[in-house]
Amino acid sequence: MFKCGYYLKGLQTFEHVTDHRPLISILNSYTLDAVENPRLQRLKEKLSPFIFTARWRAGKQLCIPDALSRHPVSSPTDEANMLVDVSAHEAVAVRAIHSLASPDDSQPATTDVQLEELQRAACTDETYIRLLHCVRNGFPSHRYDLHTTLLDYWKIRDELYCDGDLVLYGPRIVVPVASRKLVLRRLHDSHCRAEDTKRRAQQTMFWPGINEDITNVVRACDACQTLLPSQQCTGMMTS
Ligand SMILES: [Zn+2]
Repeated sequence: MFKCGYYLKGLQTFEHVTDHRPLISILNSYTLDAVENPRLQRLKEKLSPFIFTARWRAGKQLCIPDALSRHPVSSPTDEANMLVDVSAHEAVAVRAIHSLASPDDSQPATTDVQLEELQRAACTDETYIRLLHCVRNGFPSHRYDLHTTLLDYWKIRDELYCDGDLVLYGPRIVVPVASRKLVLRRLHDSHCRAEDTKRRAQQTMFWPGINEDITNVVRACDACQTLLPSQQCTGMMTS
């Protein structure tokens, strides 16, 4: 878009087609102050002179731009590199895993919720495979055509994207069913209150109903019941 800026600026509107699904809602509906990632914020700022609607299309259907991008006429600009960086999903999954590690874990790689473990669980989870297929190839146009096991993902379908065999929702990994118990234990390993445990999950892990599951785990936690009067918490508001 930056390269074609000369032709696009001043147009009443145009369509921007991309195969990078998480950008769609960020470009179409987010205001600048709602974007947390500073790199995306800069990108939105640079795109502010253009009036356009972003639309998703599978990468394999974007033959012409794909062919052109393999025959660049000059070295990539900072803006082009910025878009490549935004696409670096793997970093998101790794960051989520590392944030889940306790502060006292000297080696984040030793965390018991390993990326490979989640990937392994994902490959044998039928619902997960179905979800991955929808995220890669597009959700059906109507909710009624969606498999019943995926209905909970309908509302957030535009914000889901893949990293290899894992589905991501913002900075959070969508956790396959078989790994949820372990992830819950990990999220609550410092026996914080339910609200703090949920806040921790908001940066790292997701599945439909995760908040209810956290509430139940904290309520049923023996250690928390014993420590109840002096229960520790993080990020307490002081005002
Ligand atoms: Zn506890």
